[in-house]
Amino acid sequence: MSEQLWAPWRLSYITKGPPPKTEGPECFICRAVQSTNDAENLVFLRTEWSVGILNRYPYNNGHLLICPQAHKASLSDLTDAELLDLQKCLTQMQGILTEIMNPDGFNIGLNVGRAAGAGVPGHLHWHLVPRWNGDTNFIPVLTDTRIISLSLETLYQQIREKLAKQN
Ligand SMILES: [Zn+2]
Repeated sequence: MSEQLWAPWRLSYITKGPPPKTEGPECFICRAVQSTNDAENLVFLRTEWSVGILNRYPYNNGHLLICPQAHKASLSDLTDAELLDLQKCLTQMQGILTEIMNPDGFNIGLNVGRAAGAGVPGHLHWHLVPRWNGDTNFIPVLTDTRIISLSLETLYQQIREKLAKQN
């Protein structure tokens, strides 16, 4: 058995619904882009073209979303500048998650369209999901998913600290 370095699900379970929808667009990514409260929206990174958001309903610990700031549903809608910026963000965040969580691998992917499982089909978002050998105990993605707010907040702070040193 490998040593478990990151087991936040053991720390604190708090039942919490999705964040209250106040005003702004339906798309949660656009709401996050337009909001000025990055911590509340779990926005850890903003670049010229991209935004990085912690997934509030993670498949696995450290599950990040890297999105264009613009509400675009198709890869062909992205400009060269957006494509490059998105890939650089993915690369940077893979490095940061490696430093923080020491995973054995990553799933990095994009679901295009609802048929492919995109939760927000109108707004492209790359999933960056750290994986560990034997990490089969996924947190199920359900409407009543229990949110591990402590680990999300802790991870958010750790990512922000690492980014502050790099950027
Ligand atoms: Zn959007």
